[in-house]
Amino acid sequence: MKAPRVHGPIRRLVTMAGVAAKHGRKPSVEDLSVIDDAAIAVDADGNVRWIGEARHLPASLGMARAPVDELWFPGWVDCHTHFLFAGSRAHDFARRSTGMSYAEVARAGGGILSTVRATREASEDELLALGRERLAAFARRGVAVVEGKTGYALALDSELRCLDAYRKLDGHEGVEVLATFLPAHAVPPEYRGRKSEYVDELCARWIGTVGERRLARFADVFVEDGYFDLDDARRIGVAAKAAGLGLKIHADQFHDAGATALAVELGATSVDHGDHASAAAIATLADSETVAVMLPAASLYAGTPFPPARKFLDAGAIVALSTDFNPGTSPTTNLPLVTTLGCTQLKMTVPEALAAVTFAAAKALGLSATHGSLEVGKKFVATAFTVPTVDDVPASFGEITARIVR
Ligand SMILES: [Zn+2]
Repeated sequence: MKAPRVHGPIRRLVTMAGVAAKHGRKPSVEDLSVIDDAAIAVDADGNVRWIGEARHLPASLGMARAPVDELWFPGWVDCHTHFLFAGSRAHDFARRSTGMSYAEVARAGGGILSTVRATREASEDELLALGRERLAAFARRGVAVVEGKTGYALALDSELRCLDAYRKLDGHEGVEVLATFLPAHAVPPEYRGRKSEYVDELCARWIGTVGERRLARFADVFVEDGYFDLDDARRIGVAAKAAGLGLKIHADQFHDAGATALAVELGATSVDHGDHASAAAIATLADSETVAVMLPAASLYAGTPFPPARKFLDAGAIVALSTDFNPGTSPTTNLPLVTTLGCTQLKMTVPEALAAVTFAAAKALGLSATHGSLEVGKKFVATAFTVPTVDDVPASFGEITARIVR
């Protein structure tokens, strides 16, 4: 058997083993499972073969003789982004600064459909170049795995082109890319006033095509006034399941539509936003394996109230944090800054915020068996910061960079 690759001694290593043992629920400081002067032996398949204090590394596995003066985490996961798009929404931002709401800006010709126009017009090379630029930015922020949604093309051929671009971008700058199919992001102009026909088409053809070609892990639906309703979400959820895709739902961002409860009922892997989820829906979610994904950067940028993460955490739900990187409401790749917002605005503790971008975020992508903690048998991927302690990461207010180690 080939000798494993040994990393270490590493000054400080956060394994998240305790968080993983509790399936991401109610993370405490102890659950971060920190090891000082650590070593990791990685087998030829890239999986962790041994992990612990460097002085206990069995001689048969090698020697830890390359000191690393860094703080290592399991590779960070950004589990909710819309990072493939063209064009700018700066004009939307300016209009909102005059007091217009998100919905009013959309009605005035901005919003998602303005990004759809720009994305449809972009060439494949332009889209790939934008994608590569953004992956480089994610990597600098320590993001080792990123989810990317479609939904800025909204025609079958151009949505497939975006999924293909995500496939081509996978691995660039050391970042794994997982695609989510989100044609139910907005009703395309071609179906204006015929939303239910559009949903018919998605369920009859589009979702099945994506499932057959295995171009995405998940299907997603934006449940909101003026976009899609609960019935649409249920139909899309059923079609996604039949096509072998997992389900995610953009739920209850601007008001309580009952979408959080529906997501749990349909066995969604994650329910995202959840700002206005009812207490009953939160209790149901807390009893399930569905992850609640909180997106505080979108609230900060849109100037809207922050999601009630505390209610979810106190109920025992699994809570992840993500950038929601998108042109309209959260144009940032800065996941460390999101942990700051988690602590200052969502009133999360430091361990809760750090578990939310590692284990819980991996679980929100159905990856918790391989990612999210550094343990024997799991994939080896680490996010390395140069700061001394775990507290320094959210305390840095996003003024921090990292490198990905594979
Ligand atoms: Zn989103």
